[in-house]
Amino acid sequence: MKTKTLKLACIADDFTGATDLANNLVRSGMRVVQTIGVPDAPLAAEVDAVVVALKSRTLPAAQAIAQSLEALQWLQAQGAEQIYFKYCSTFDSTPEGNIGPVTEALMDALGCDFTIATPAFPDNGRTVFKGYLFAGNVLLNESGMQNHPLTPMRDANLVRVMQAQTKRLVGLIDYKTVAQGETAIRERMAALRAEGVGVAVVDATSNADLLLLGPALKDMKLLTAGSGVAIGLPGNFGLKPSLQASQLPAARGLQAVVSGSCSLATNAQVAHFKATGRPAMAIDPASLMNGQSDAVVAQMLAWAAPRLKDGPVLVYSTAEPDAVKAVQSQLGVAEAGALVEHALAAVARGLVDLGVQQLVVAGGETSGACVQALCITQLQIGPQIDPGVPWCHATSTTTAAKGGVHITLKSGNFGTEDFFSKAFDTLH
Ligand code: ADP
Repeated sequence: MKTKTLKLACIADDFTGATDLANNLVRSGMRVVQTIGVPDAPLAAEVDAVVVALKSRTLPAAQAIAQSLEALQWLQAQGAEQIYFKYCSTFDSTPEGNIGPVTEALMDALGCDFTIATPAFPDNGRTVFKGYLFAGNVLLNESGMQNHPLTPMRDANLVRVMQAQTKRLVGLIDYKTVAQGETAIRERMAALRAEGVGVAVVDATSNADLLLLGPALKDMKLLTAGSGVAIGLPGNFGLKPSLQASQLPAARGLQAVVSGSCSLATNAQVAHFKATGRPAMAIDPASLMNGQSDAVVAQMLAWAAPRLKDGPVLVYSTAEPDAVKAVQSQLGVAEAGALVEHALAAVARGLVDLGVQQLVVAGGETSGACVQALCITQLQIGPQIDPGVPWCHATSTTTAAKGGVHITLKSGNFGTEDFFSKAFDTLH
């Protein structure tokens, strides 16, 4: 019989979100492996937590469910004690899903009648108060997320947003209850359950709230959350927080940034990188139409090749909301997204073939596409650059990257303005 070492088994709906969660778990004292997709072999490493990174956030709900259940089955086979469904700290979803439908499917599969839902991540300014999600100082729907290319968030009330996506009744555990700690939270959960509530949004405005919440989640089969809730969990397994990020192999090779995120923070990061005089080249999505993608990718790589020896280069499709809307009305939302992701992924692979071994990728969907193009299947989590964004080390089966690549997957709205330069400084 398999010995149970796996304490926490996580399913993340995108790749940057997965590293964000893995980062919080590592910092809280857990040994963590992140897999890209569902592995086809049993877990080899002796770890406390595994994060299976899916790219299911914007798939049709049925496909997201199928992938999540496949991940669940593999994790259960590894002896998982508790399941953690991780989504974005800005609750990226649409009325069709996928947070609600995946949560329900996991609850059904686990025979679980109650779970929580909270994207709170105070270290990154994501707080939940009376069920309303704030990003920084403003409500979610005023944060720029209302213009997201794929999952525009136009309502900050998470009880309402979640209720639109699930047949189960959604309730709230508010900040007053959370502040009273484990017993009060457990009592509120029991009361909600008695009222027929299946999913409770939980307020949290500080790390202290998340640390109070943690013990109340000890026996819950399924948790659904952003990465913040993770900081309160390792204590349930007798593990202590550790600020010592895991050691990665020494960094080598050339440096590059690939950015497909159109979020506010990324727009500022691209502008900052250009303002420092570093080489940057934009991809115009319209130029990728009519089978021109390969030619455009070749053009980008030819531009980058002679510049790489002088320091990091940036290839980006990052654009302001008006420009994104114009492209989307020309190509369609999904088509524009897929076309750009495909091109940026080919650029990332081409850059690695040119000798890049330190790669920053900006954008959740974009990261998913790049990691897949680089045939990366497992990531070792290293030091944090900014909250939610660690450096990782990956071996890749592509010829050029055999020695391994250092890669960081930056979620759209994460990171300070100088992230693209700071990232490389952090590594050295
Ligand atoms: P974020 O983490 O900021 O949400 P993502 O990479 O997840 O970033 O999502 C951005 C989406 O927008 C991707 O599907 C990407 O291909 C698409 N995209 C990128 N640049 C443009 C553009 N200029 N016009 C239209 N869509 C774009």
